[in-house]
Amino acid sequence: MLNRRGFLKIGGATAFAALFGGCERLPKTLVPFVIPPENYALGESLWYASVCRQCPAGCGIVVRNSEGRAKKIEGNPLHPVNRGKLCARGQAGLQALYHPERLGTPLKLDGPRGSGKFREIPWEEALRLLMTGLSGVRAEAPTALLMLTDPMRGHRNLVSARFMKAFGSPHRVAWDPFGQDAHLSANEAVYGVRDLPEHDLAGTRYLLSFSGDFLETGVSPVHFGHAYGRMRAARPTVRGKFVHFGPRLSMTAANADAFLPVAPGTEGYAALGIAHVMVREKLTPAAAAAGGLWNAGLKEFTPQAAEEKTGVSAADIEAVAREFGANQPGLAMAGDAAAACTNGVFNLSAVGLLNLLAGNVGKPGGISFPDRLAAFASFGAEAKLLLPAAESGYPAVRDAVERMGKGKFRMALLSGATNPAFTLPPSLKFEEALLKVPTIVSFASFLDETTSLSDLVLPTPTYLEEWGDDLPPAGHGGEAITLGQPVVTPFRDTRSMPDVLIAAAKELGGPAAAALPWGSFRECLEKAYAGRGIDLEEAHKNGGIFSGKAGATRPAPKAGSPALPKAAEAAFAGDPARYPLVLHVYPSSALSDGRGANLPWLQELPDPIATAVWRNWVEVGPKTAAALALSDGDGVTVSSPFGSLQAFVFVHPAIAEGVAAMPLGQGHSRYGKYAADRGGNPYALLPASVESATKAPARHATRVSLVKTRMKGALVRTVHPEGQWLYENIL
Ligand code: SF4
Repeated sequence: MLNRRGFLKIGGATAFAALFGGCERLPKTLVPFVIPPENYALGESLWYASVCRQCPAGCGIVVRNSEGRAKKIEGNPLHPVNRGKLCARGQAGLQALYHPERLGTPLKLDGPRGSGKFREIPWEEALRLLMTGLSGVRAEAPTALLMLTDPMRGHRNLVSARFMKAFGSPHRVAWDPFGQDAHLSANEAVYGVRDLPEHDLAGTRYLLSFSGDFLETGVSPVHFGHAYGRMRAARPTVRGKFVHFGPRLSMTAANADAFLPVAPGTEGYAALGIAHVMVREKLTPAAAAAGGLWNAGLKEFTPQAAEEKTGVSAADIEAVAREFGANQPGLAMAGDAAAACTNGVFNLSAVGLLNLLAGNVGKPGGISFPDRLAAFASFGAEAKLLLPAAESGYPAVRDAVERMGKGKFRMALLSGATNPAFTLPPSLKFEEALLKVPTIVSFASFLDETTSLSDLVLPTPTYLEEWGDDLPPAGHGGEAITLGQPVVTPFRDTRSMPDVLIAAAKELGGPAAAALPWGSFRECLEKAYAGRGIDLEEAHKNGGIFSGKAGATRPAPKAGSPALPKAAEAAFAGDPARYPLVLHVYPSSALSDGRGANLPWLQELPDPIATAVWRNWVEVGPKTAAALALSDGDGVTVSSPFGSLQAFVFVHPAIAEGVAAMPLGQGHSRYGKYAADRGGNPYALLPASVESATKAPARHATRVSLVKTRMKGALVRTVHPEGQWLYENIL
């Protein structure tokens, strides 16, 4: 009989023996269902707690298993990040699990490199090929091994870090197209802490948002959605007000009491205009005490000066400043569009200044920096490897591309959903450089643009079938560890990446075997948590360990007047005469950075503003459309100095004029049948520009032209936006 422990064992067992010899296989013989296993009580459901990995937020989930199948995913009510809630992408996890194109057998290249032609091979042969490659590189040049993944955390990251260190290569690169580099640098400059903060949305009275689509995408959308609901409705006498500045009316902006369209990259000037009024009129005690700012240059940033830069009227800026001052605790937040400009650190530092002037740093309803590392000190010297890495990794990726191009790497190990061949600007020539690496091995559940370039693909389980742990980046205020476990018996012949690395280290022997001393990744987790006195099986019932224990809140309040951020203009590539519009690309609320494009439910999920599905569209304002003689639904060629694609025009009244906005996510060439033939990839329009202070990618840094073009078909929309949004009603 299969009991609970047995079930989980099948789900997670990938010991050395299972990988390298006498492979443990799932039973294939048909048996009568006379004595059903205890999990399979017909008609009854079992719920297993685990972790969602559809985006990096790390929400807790509970999955209903009935008759051995995962039937429904919900939010884990005990989890401090998402408190029982789940977004559409989280729900779509079932489609990843049961996807017909999921890899279930290792694949060996069977054609020219990059052709995407593979043949299936047994695991024994695949692992032999892997070991041949690894052994050869280690014997001759260990530093010629590259590991390129998405940002990992928890013990998955620890295993990878130990493997590469023991192997002898420093080239472990993690790529995140939506990394938080500018936020880290701005936080360091403004608050003295190089970390991501906790924003107490639920407790604030007045929220100022600058281009942060926090209800749809970003660091933790479900957490922010829940907190936002509480800010608006959970207090008997206070309904928090929300004012949003941004280049377009996102779903987040549509939830605001007031939406003020700003020219892209000018968010910092809007914030300084507000700061000017706060200090001039001594609107809060902290603003009154910040008189030094005035002579440091703040007096130049008048609301009129802000109007000239941003397009927001001086009267609106004055009104917002006075309301913000009168409604404390208040909170100012900035998001990706303000960060991913060439002047991102300036924009974010200016927004941070508003929190200092509000006097709500480290206070309820404001912004705080719990000392994460202190909260996880019981994990010892390697605790940092478990915590979320907020950097994009772009400088390291560019360095790796350069080295690949010069033939410095002999082998590359690839893993992760961030799909660099799709998400990096084509001008970086990532694909061309990668193909110069003699041996490319991918760990993947699906073939995408990056994994298709491999010589060998090792199929991995989905997150619903494997063991793991995760430390979410935001929304818990202290110690929160989400535990992942198999919620179904795996039904493909897959091996998790940490299990393969552990087994490979054993084969390599020496320091590698000593650094990864476990029989499996499950054993690694069991030993790590047993060492902290935690009963892992018990903790799995709750879905994690949520003590909420926080290290001291940083920073200690600084003496003296805050510094004025050094103003910087956003730069945009392309001659304005030839490319008249500024391109604003944003992660799709359904497809995210593109990773969700292979799931039919997410393809069918209407965009919350455009109500469109399946194709590319480009959003422009009515005056911009009229100036270009374009109408809603027209086909256009969108061209930047770096590439072009075709899209349908979506005319919307609530977008800054002179801006062309496009969601990311479509335009895949190698991501299966559901992602195919959906138009072009907007990443291909982007320059390799960087934020000036951090050298992180600057997505909002190019101009485009729109030229009317005949296109097949039409953009499918669930409703027409006219009649829903009237410009006069929004402002
Ligand atoms: S926010 Fe991210 S982690 Fe949370 S449910 Fe949605 S996709 Fe999953």
